Amino acid sequence: MSSAAHHTVSIVGGGLAGLALGVALRRAEVPVELFEAGDYPRHRVCGEFMAGLDDATVCRLGIEEALADAGAERRVTWYLRNEAVGGQTLPHPARTISRLVLDARLVARFTALGGRLHRGLRQALPSDATGWVDAAGRRRSTRSPWMGLKAHFGGIDASAGLELHLGDGAYVGLATVEDGWVNVCGLFRRRSGLTMDRVSALPAYLRASGLDGLADRLAAGKMRLESASAVAALHFDRKVGLGDGIRLGDAVAMIPPFTGNGMAMALIGAACAVDPLVAWARRERSWPETVGSVQSALQAEFRTRLAGASLLHPFLVNPSLQRGLGAAARTGLLPLTRLYHLLH
Ligand SMILES: Cc1cc2nc3c(=O)[nH]c(=O)nc-3n(C[C@H](O)[C@H](O)[C@H](O)COP(=O)(O)OP(=O)(O)OC[C@H]3O[C@@H](n4cnc5c(N)ncnc54)[C@H](O)[C@@H]3O)c2cc1C
Repeated sequence: MSSAAHHTVSIVGGGLAGLALGVALRRAEVPVELFEAGDYPRHRVCGEFMAGLDDATVCRLGIEEALADAGAERRVTWYLRNEAVGGQTLPHPARTISRLVLDARLVARFTALGGRLHRGLRQALPSDATGWVDAAGRRRSTRSPWMGLKAHFGGIDASAGLELHLGDGAYVGLATVEDGWVNVCGLFRRRSGLTMDRVSALPAYLRASGLDGLADRLAAGKMRLESASAVAALHFDRKVGLGDGIRLGDAVAMIPPFTGNGMAMALIGAACAVDPLVAWARRERSWPETVGSVQSALQAEFRTRLAGASLLHPFLVNPSLQRGLGAAARTGLLPLTRLYHLLH
């Protein structure tokens, strides 16, 4: 069937979910229009390590090239305040790649395949959302106590693999991305009276959270200034937020970042939506059937990991629960492999 006879799929949001879906639909010759409020290339607040993304999903989406040179890291070292308390070997390697590079590659692939991209255009979902996909990212919660800060650093030792540092009301991940840059990204409980200058906020929050050792280590390196970024109003979901139509990525649910699973969920969700949307675009399936089959797939994929992550999250940020976690990690009693499978 020629693409002239196909319905067009319209996607709001050109982050990972929207771009990956756009690429996969264009490979099936579905006409796609994608609206992105921002522009590329750009740094995003993200830990930039992807756990739980299998090769089959990557192939299904047709984004192998974008990830071909991503790092692959299996070692994780856990730190409580400034002390290493344990290590873990992941059952599958986590992919490490900056959002600066990954998003730009997906944009190039989408447009090369003939996708229509509207940059710098904030688009509202129409009230009749037939043919529309909401991939506009997380919903904001103005009462949230959480903020995210990130920057890339050069000239620091990253030989411990992925690092997860637990501080007072905070945790911070380190992952090496392209060109030897080490991405440092943390989730912090907001504190009044701390500087919110783009460059000094991360070191200030590290010290205020009792992570002086990490702050000293970073101070000895060099910050990639343009990468320093912040987000506020973060909130995390316990349940899959299906809504009335098709939502993907953080628009469905935001999982706590310690799982390193938000990006994988954005891509897995996009993969779940490809076949139903292709069938709808070819007029082989009604819109309500399409929505129903995407929603069932998302529910089956994400229900357990969201519930597990929301149960575990307090252990990573609450000082007294962290001590229990640290003690279990030191004595090797943390069932890390079982937890990994629960969360991914
Ligand atoms: C502190 C922190 C650390 C994290 N660390 C990790 C990690 O280590 N590993 C991991 O896998 N995940 C991590 N995540 C989560 C991960 O970044 C997200 O899950 C992922 O970006 C979700 O992709 P998305 O496409 O749904 O949303 P996004 O990538 O946020 O894309 C949504 C896009 O929609 C656009 N948009 C919004 N509204 C509109 C509109 N009305 N019109 C047009 N465009 C619009 C936005 O500009 C944005 O580009 C972290 C998140 C945070 C906050």
